Amino acid sequence: MPVLEIAKLGHPILRKKARPVDLKELKAQGDNKLQRLIDDMIETMRDEGGVGIAAPQVAESLQVIIVEYRQNERYPSQDDIPLTVYVNPVITHSSKETGSFWEGCLSLKDLRGLVTRPREVTVEAFSRDGEKMVVEARGFLAVVLQHEIDHLHGKVFLDRMTDLTQLAWVEEWETYWAEKEPADAPESI
Ligand code: ZN
Repeated sequence: MPVLEIAKLGHPILRKKARPVDLKELKAQGDNKLQRLIDDMIETMRDEGGVGIAAPQVAESLQVIIVEYRQNERYPSQDDIPLTVYVNPVITHSSKETGSFWEGCLSLKDLRGLVTRPREVTVEAFSRDGEKMVVEARGFLAVVLQHEIDHLHGKVFLDRMTDLTQLAWVEEWETYWAEKEPADAPESI
């Protein structure tokens, strides 16, 4: 399973709407390109130390995202998120209440930006086996899912920022911002 190259900001694929996955192709027996892509995305996300990855970030214009979080130094105060593959994910409900979180992105690797998003979302999707899933997410998971689903619509976290004074290189963020939680930070899940 190879680690794939990450598409960085400026790569046109990051600005395209991704194509839905054909569930028949997803479930096909034998050598299955989509299942191989999912395995490679998992390996790439882990290799890069990411919390989530979307197929356009490995230059595949398909509606697949993967999330997983095990305690690491990138987001030290958050709880674990088990490995989950979401195929054709759709946000079917967003809470009115919002929260702000310093987001990072493998495609904008050395930047962090403060982004305000709904605190709770409901996501409908299919698993990698083609089973329907409905996930009610809050806190950190809600942030990660909204960030990754944005990638399927050609958006990056910069597009969600309302105040670009809250954009920082990781090193400066660690020096000047990391200790100060935003007042409306989402609670841990
Ligand atoms: Zn991202």
